[in-house]
Amino acid sequence: MNHDTIFSKIITHKIPADIVYQDKYITAFKDIMPKAPVHILIVPNIIIPTVNDVKMCHEPILGKLFTVAAKIAKQHGIHENGYRLIINCNHHAGQEIFHFHMHLLGGKYLGPLIE
Ligand code: 5GP
Repeated sequence: MNHDTIFSKIITHKIPADIVYQDKYITAFKDIMPKAPVHILIVPNIIIPTVNDVKMCHEPILGKLFTVAAKIAKQHGIHENGYRLIINCNHHAGQEIFHFHMHLLGGKYLGPLIE
């Protein structure tokens, strides 16, 4: 059974967010605490809590995250300089919201992945 998350409330417009893309499967919105000039969260509309919960039936929707990421990067003019896509899973990665999401970060040189 899926429990509501803060992201599902954003997806269903129950709470506000700066949504930059939405379709039947995916919603993308600006991170409330951006870590880069462009910081967008790309989220499946269905709740998958973590990468550990990914099943074969999710493969099409998770593949679509990349199509949407590339489209948004182009719209923000960061596709040529580049950007980083991050998916955190559980405590050691610092996952805070247990609704699968991809961070799209860019708009400046991001430095090494882990310092
Ligand atoms: P995680 O650490 O789970 O990978 O990332 C969660 C992200 O969600 C964080 O970067 C955090 O700033 C963002 N976030 C948390 N709550 C909200 C919210 O209510 N609205 C938006 N737009 N972003 C949020």
